[in-house]
Amino acid sequence: MPVPFTRRSLLAASALLPLSLTRLAAAPDPGPWRVGGFTVIRLEDGLFPLEPPMIPGAESAAGRALLDGAGLSPDGPSPEPVNAFLIRRGERHWLLDAGCGTVFGPDFDRVSAALAAQGVRPDQVETVWLSHLHADHAGGLLTPQRQARFAQAELVVQEREAAFWSDAGARANAATALAPMFDTAQAVLAAYAGRVRRIAGEAELTDGIRAVPLPGHTPGHMGVLIVDGAERLLIWGDVIHSRLLQMPHPDWTVIWDADPAQAMATRRRLLDRAASEGWPVAGMHMAVAGRIERDGAGYRLT
Ligand SMILES: [Zn+2]
Repeated sequence: MPVPFTRRSLLAASALLPLSLTRLAAAPDPGPWRVGGFTVIRLEDGLFPLEPPMIPGAESAAGRALLDGAGLSPDGPSPEPVNAFLIRRGERHWLLDAGCGTVFGPDFDRVSAALAAQGVRPDQVETVWLSHLHADHAGGLLTPQRQARFAQAELVVQEREAAFWSDAGARANAATALAPMFDTAQAVLAAYAGRVRRIAGEAELTDGIRAVPLPGHTPGHMGVLIVDGAERLLIWGDVIHSRLLQMPHPDWTVIWDADPAQAMATRRRLLDRAASEGWPVAGMHMAVAGRIERDGAGYRLT
């Protein structure tokens, strides 16, 4: 069972991560970001209206104060981006996640247009790495007819993730609200049958890019670490769903966590490590990248 940031993985990560600073801007930055020879472009699929009941800890005086302080209604929602990322180096193009597609209606599915705006055709994407198989990350792999949208792409996912969403028992035990998530995950695996590569734990995705297991949100949830020379960027998947609410309160979990205690422990461990090491981080539900600093009992992105 992969455990995030075991001593072995910390040592392995440390070897990959010299402590010198990268060229990434010191202030929160909407990108694109350069990491050595890689360019990382955030593709915003849409804005999700996150309601406080989706982060139950935010249904509190502290939550209302944060929302109010950000100029939002104290009752919410907090608009949060849904991102995929285009990673390119020379003539090579990879995607990390693919957005919602048409699963969540007309307010989403902007990844395709964002990709086209970068001059990239779907058949030029050689690989799609999936942080996890939730529909807001994998739905965009499908056309409205549930066919593969990326004709040439290999799909790479953690073995535990593919197994969970393919498991009839897991589906039977899951909340009814999660049934559409199983439908989308299974449709994606079927549409890309024969070109799904299942990986286990830390794995090299391509030269300079590694999978970082971050379990809890889902069993095979992972981030991606991009390293080139002294430069690096960690794209941490869904470790944070709301920068506004969860950075100051890392113990506030989302209702979609498969294992909330594990998700919280992963978030705490990763924030602590990122703050200590000065790692630049980006995420699927953050509009900017930046570095993590401790701020009282919580953290902030700088
Ligand atoms: Zn998500």
